[in-house]
Amino acid sequence: MFVGHYALGYYLKAKNNYVPLWLIFLGVQFVDLLWAVSIFFGIERASFDPEASSVFLRAIYEYYPYTHSLFTSISIAFLSAFVVYKLFNKKWAMVTGIAVLSHWFLDLIVHVPDVPLFFNSYKVGFGIWNYPVTTLFLEVIFLTVGLWYFIKSEENIRTRKWAIGIYFFLTIFYIGSFFAPAVPPTPIQIGIFGVLIYGGVAVAAYLAEKSKRGTTKE
Ligand SMILES: [Zn+2]
Repeated sequence: MFVGHYALGYYLKAKNNYVPLWLIFLGVQFVDLLWAVSIFFGIERASFDPEASSVFLRAIYEYYPYTHSLFTSISIAFLSAFVVYKLFNKKWAMVTGIAVLSHWFLDLIVHVPDVPLFFNSYKVGFGIWNYPVTTLFLEVIFLTVGLWYFIKSEENIRTRKWAIGIYFFLTIFYIGSFFAPAVPPTPIQIGIFGVLIYGGVAVAAYLAEKSKRGTTKE
C-alpha cells in the first residue's frame, strides 16, 4: 500500500489536530522508510518479477522480518512513541504509535501472504494486490476521503492548500507508478528513493503547517 497510508495520516490529523502533520506522515510510512534503508544496507531482501500478473506483484518481498513483521512493527511503534514522548511532546506519543502500527494492518490488506507475524514466520496477506485496478481505485478513494476529513477540520487556508498539493502529488505519482515500465530497481535506488519520497512528503507536511505562522489567529 502506498497512498492509503497517507489517507489514514490525514484522518489521524483531522481527529488529533494538536499533533503535527509531518510527524503523522512520517509515522504512517516509518516502517517503509526503515525498509528502504534496510534494503539499501542489504539487511532485508526484495526481488523483482517484470512478468508479474499485477503491477503491484512485481516487487517480491522475500525477506523483511525486521521492518514488516507484526511483532517488530509493534516494537517499532512502541519505541517511536517512547522517543516522541521523551524528546518532543508527551501528547504526541500515542498518535505516533498508532500511526506507525497502522502501517502493518494496511499492508496486510493489500499484500499477498508475505507479511510475517513474527520475524520471518507465519506469513499473511489478503492479496488485494492481485487486482491492480481495484487497488488503485481503493487507495485513491481512501486518500480522497482522508483529505476530505482533513480539509473539514483544518481552518488555515494555506495549510489546506498545501495538503491538497500533497494529495495531488501523491495521486499523480501513484497513478504514474502504475504505468511505469517494469525495470528492476537496485537496492541502492530503493534506499535513496524511499528516503527521498517518505522524507520529502514529511518535509512538505512540515512546510504545510509552518506556513500557518502569521496567517492564523491561534
Ligand atoms: Zn510497508
